[in-house]
Amino acid sequence: MVPRVAVVEDEEALSVLLRYNLEAEGFEVDTILRGDEAELRLQERIPDLLILDWMLPGVSGIELCRRLRMRPETERLPIIMLTARGEESEKVRGLATGADDYIVKPFSVPELLARVRALLRRANPERVATILTIGDIELDREKKRVSRNGRPIDLGPTEYRLLEFLMERPGRVFSREQLLDGVWGSDIYIDERTVDVHVGRLRKAINRGQQADPIRTVRGAGYALDDRFGRMN
Ligand code: CA
Repeated sequence: MVPRVAVVEDEEALSVLLRYNLEAEGFEVDTILRGDEAELRLQERIPDLLILDWMLPGVSGIELCRRLRMRPETERLPIIMLTARGEESEKVRGLATGADDYIVKPFSVPELLARVRALLRRANPERVATILTIGDIELDREKKRVSRNGRPIDLGPTEYRLLEFLMERPGRVFSREQLLDGVWGSDIYIDERTVDVHVGRLRKAINRGQQADPIRTVRGAGYALDDRFGRMN
């Protein structure tokens, strides 16, 4: 899956420049010009990384960052904050609000790209691994095989993709809509209850009715793969 980066920046020239360079690096890019619009868009679709300008019309970058950190779906979203020179004294506040990194304008594009790659690696080492492991569950992407406690597990293609998607992002809570988007694709219309059906099948296959269930149902929010599950075993 291609990593998706959202850029929230009201200087249009900079926004265009960032889109061009991030796309050239192979990322999918969403550009958003206002803080309030970004807040709405991020409820529909969560990127793999967010580049967030400090000063924005609508809702400021720092306020948006604070709000994102309060929602379970985005509390771990990797965020790089852009600040203008002179706002540097505010950096500490930026990091305290929950940004993972910050970069001071004017910055060099290669520098920003290096930070983006570093943060993605740090945040999602699973995205580049061949074998994903959580607790006693192992998923081999090359062989497309899943096992638990060394015993092979048969999964349908949808359950496999669902498990892979969740294992790539342990601990993150996904709404049914986000799972549909990430696992089935955004251009297909499928009822959200379909997600429940496939999560049910996946649970049945990996738990066999007797092992600890690593899939957490978050009431009113959706599903997550419990990242504490590995440590409990
Ligand atoms: Ca700005």
